[in-house]
Amino acid sequence: MGSGKVTTGSAPYDFQGKHVTVAGLGVSGVPAAKALHARGAIVTVVNDGDDARAREQAAGLQALGVTVRLGDGATLPEGTELIVTAPGWQPGKPLFQAAAQAGVPVWGDVELAWRLRGPDAAPWLAVTGTNGKTTTVQMLASILKAAGLRTAAVGNIGVSLLDAVLGEETYDVLAVELSSYQLHWAPSLRAHSAAVLNLAPDHLDWHGSMEAYAADKGRIYEGNKVACVYNVADKATEDLVREADVEEGCRAVGFTLGTPGPSQLGVVEGILVDRAFVENRQKNAQELAEVSDIHPPAPHNIANALAAAALARAFGVPARAVRDGLRAFRPDAHRIEHVADLDGVAYVDDSKATNTHAAQASLAAYESIVWIAGGLAKGATFDELVAASAKRLRAVVLIGADRALIREALARHAPEVPVVDLDRTDTGAMLQAVTEARRLAVAGDTVLLAPACASMDMFTNYNQRGDAFATAVRELRA
Ligand code: ADP
Repeated sequence: MGSGKVTTGSAPYDFQGKHVTVAGLGVSGVPAAKALHARGAIVTVVNDGDDARAREQAAGLQALGVTVRLGDGATLPEGTELIVTAPGWQPGKPLFQAAAQAGVPVWGDVELAWRLRGPDAAPWLAVTGTNGKTTTVQMLASILKAAGLRTAAVGNIGVSLLDAVLGEETYDVLAVELSSYQLHWAPSLRAHSAAVLNLAPDHLDWHGSMEAYAADKGRIYEGNKVACVYNVADKATEDLVREADVEEGCRAVGFTLGTPGPSQLGVVEGILVDRAFVENRQKNAQELAEVSDIHPPAPHNIANALAAAALARAFGVPARAVRDGLRAFRPDAHRIEHVADLDGVAYVDDSKATNTHAAQASLAAYESIVWIAGGLAKGATFDELVAASAKRLRAVVLIGADRALIREALARHAPEVPVVDLDRTDTGAMLQAVTEARRLAVAGDTVLLAPACASMDMFTNYNQRGDAFATAVRELRA
């Protein structure tokens, strides 16, 4: 971890009369265009699509005096001095190639929000990682609130960063979720403290390579002031801390499900313990909360709680607020959500486990599982997941377009586990899947929907998939 570099922050940017191109309408583009226009910029929005929704959004902006070009997101408007892009736009797009050639800087929505903060703006406690971001940021906000601080969970969830930064509401501190895309386009972001929860291959088509993906995630540590929080069990996250340039005095703080060493938070006999933010950390430790204060107390969720606690403690929050905040917190729907018990079998909806890394964490939380899996694989392979989870599997019910990939991994690594392969991708397949799972489960088992795949082959999104599971369980119970 390089230190000593004094972070001067970003210089104020004068938008008055500047030609700014906003790339992409939609969730971030419209408020960005409005904010830039309000600051005197001459704004042109470019958008690939030209559908009814885009036209409606365009009409609203045009009424303000913003130029909108629909159906052409590739051409760099003449005179552009700055591009503000929607975070999802891929770096290889022709628009950005043209910008690079012309020496035009590119900012994402996070960079714009960061630059538009006022001089007394609230510091950011930032969280990224392949999985667990939303849960961790919400836990963090709950802890900060329990400490009496004015805060909100913002970024990739709930309130947009731009709204949080420009809105009426004033905050003491923000709990900020950042995706790898957002970090890619946020060169001058400097968080108070930040955490990378874990790193597994994801979105590699967007980033180009695992190295590029990791490097973008690692950007979150740049210029941290108090703590860079990493996962002791995931060496890649610690490597990112080592490579980061941070402010003088900023510390590397690890979290672990085991006994914590100095400068770490961990777990000792069911107690969450802080050995980082205490006097004389060689000898002392501070009890923060009990594992039973965390809902639900699955191992990966304990890790999320430790990361949230580390960031809160870096901000000076007392131990009691960590406990109260964790006690008060309940995760969003479809994240290892207990749906019902039926004949001594628990039915759990983790429809949000849309990749193999998430599903593996989910499967590790239960002893004996009838696993409902499958959907769109997005280029993933399933060998590692199946090999790691084989001994917990009572049986597997496969659904969705890419189920053959999982079936083949099961044949290789868990040939003795019974598999039911449902050859249908209609929405009604979920009732059949749950019926099969019920037939295969015995008392004490968990029927776990943790698909390790995206849902769009059968459902609108993971919410609908989880709802279909819950509805099916209720039908069986009736
Ligand atoms: P994100 O915002 O990163 O998508 P969420 O908090 O919404 O993360 O959790 C998504 C899914 O990832 C959960 O349903 C669970 O299956 C899995 N998950 C949550 N936390 C972790 C973690 N720390 N490690 C691995 N998987 C996790």
